[in-house]
Amino acid sequence: MQQDNKFDPEIFKQAAQAMAANMTQAGAEKAQSDKVMTNLREQVDTAATITCDDCGCHVFENSFVLKRISPITSPTGEEMVVPVQIFACTSCHGVNKEFLPAHVISDVNKTDKNGIPTY
Ligand SMILES: [Zn+2]
Repeated sequence: MQQDNKFDPEIFKQAAQAMAANMTQAGAEKAQSDKVMTNLREQVDTAATITCDDCGCHVFENSFVLKRISPITSPTGEEMVVPVQIFACTSCHGVNKEFLPAHVISDVNKTDKNGIPTY
């Protein structure tokens, strides 16, 4: 039987301890993460549901407003198209003000839904 004189059992012990500590920590982190997810799920279940300002529907879809940044102000010196994600009602396609403040689209939205000019 060949004996490895370089083998140091202390190194093996240290590695085993490090692995055990790691596994305990991972287990604790997973338990903490599970707890956070359960709390979050409970909070989401009982949270207020956002509805459409116009028709009351509670289902929304992803939509985008595209903003064009001129080459003069663009950080790259080239024209940029920047998508701004918003949520639109699946029923009437209305977009709640909280998802799209009027000042963001002031260049296209000159009147509100009642036809009153917005400045
Ligand atoms: Zn709607």
